Amino acid sequence: MNEPTGAAPDAATSIFNLPDYRVISASVLGDGRRRVIVETDQPPGCPTCGVVASRRKERRFQRIRDIPVAGAVEVLWCKYRWYCEERACARLSFFESTTQVPRRARSTGRLRDHVVDAVIRSGRAVSETAAAFGISWWTVRAALNEACLLTLPDVDELSPRMLGIDEHRFRSVRFFRDPGSSSWVRHEPWMTTIVDLDSGQVLGVVDGRDHKGVGDWLFARPLAWRLGVQVVAIDPSAAFRKALRMWLPRTAVAVDHFHLVSLGNQAMTEARQNLSQQVKGRRGRGVDKAWAHRMLLLRAGDTLTGNAAHRLAEVFAADDPTGKLEAVWKVKEQLRILLRTSSLADAAAAKEDLKALVEAAARPETNKLYRTVSRWWKEIEVLIVTGATTGKVEANNTGIKHIKRTARGYRNPGNYKSVILMRSAVRTAA
Ligand SMILES: [Zn+2]
Repeated sequence: MNEPTGAAPDAATSIFNLPDYRVISASVLGDGRRRVIVETDQPPGCPTCGVVASRRKERRFQRIRDIPVAGAVEVLWCKYRWYCEERACARLSFFESTTQVPRRARSTGRLRDHVVDAVIRSGRAVSETAAAFGISWWTVRAALNEACLLTLPDVDELSPRMLGIDEHRFRSVRFFRDPGSSSWVRHEPWMTTIVDLDSGQVLGVVDGRDHKGVGDWLFARPLAWRLGVQVVAIDPSAAFRKALRMWLPRTAVAVDHFHLVSLGNQAMTEARQNLSQQVKGRRGRGVDKAWAHRMLLLRAGDTLTGNAAHRLAEVFAADDPTGKLEAVWKVKEQLRILLRTSSLADAAAAKEDLKALVEAAARPETNKLYRTVSRWWKEIEVLIVTGATTGKVEANNTGIKHIKRTARGYRNPGNYKSVILMRSAVRTAA
């Protein structure tokens, strides 16, 4: 709170509690609305020379938007023009401004703080926040943009060691009619997030999910910054490798643990479905144990309780006449074991075991999985040595999904990006 230099503030000023202002009148209008008229409590300094003014000229009333104070209030600022009495100063007169309401501002700083807090910290939708404070959507957006400029750290000032790059779709697929050929074009609005894996902070959000967006973003970073990055974690299907080779040629690329595990699970699911077709000639149903326990098949073998392990054994005994389902399950589990190893020698040994299990299974699904593992072996080795995974990117993507849900789909990618970056910055600082 401000410390008035003169007398103690009167009751209305204390209750209204807007720094740099005193309440000169408070009234209830005919329709029940409350109107508060305020003026500054100290003479202002000239914006050009800084000399404190002492002579007022004319005044005018400016409506300013403010937070509700015990309910909605209409706030009028009795704003004066002052003479600059400094002879050496070229400015003759000026309108006063304050920290709460700087020049050209039409809302108080405390309103802008509340609004930014509601959207960024509490995760409320922009439209909902606007309604709650009785202001327009644009005002909330403007406050967010301003806060974005003020609070977002300069990415180039940071020196991340490990980056994670991951993509997500920021709104549903749309179809546009191409005016030339009048055919429908599928448009998938993707965005790629770049995260500091040590702090978990989102450093950048770029459009698309190809090497172009990420490449341009990396190119914009200073050379020292790029040289400081030691590891980048990406998912095994990513197109980012090209951009990385170009702009971070000396950086080790790790393939993400989580994505590999889900490839293993994908192979498991496909094998279960294909086996059902091949053995029974139909899709799985509730009566099939493999179908009924399809989620159990995907669980990590080492986390199964005695009970669950028993049920899984039953599945293999009752619903796996060819033994292939169990063979695929073993491959999936071996991949997890491989990813848990902590040395290159152990990893190589685990890969040999994986190969033997894949050969024993002799299934197209696991053959494909093994080919992927082999193709990304160098990146898997980097993962095992550095432990760099995009887990934190994923955590951010979950946060991003939440942002998306609250706002029911952002239309403007720029707005979306700023909320992602700010919420991440707030979370990282907390
Ligand atoms: Zn002046």
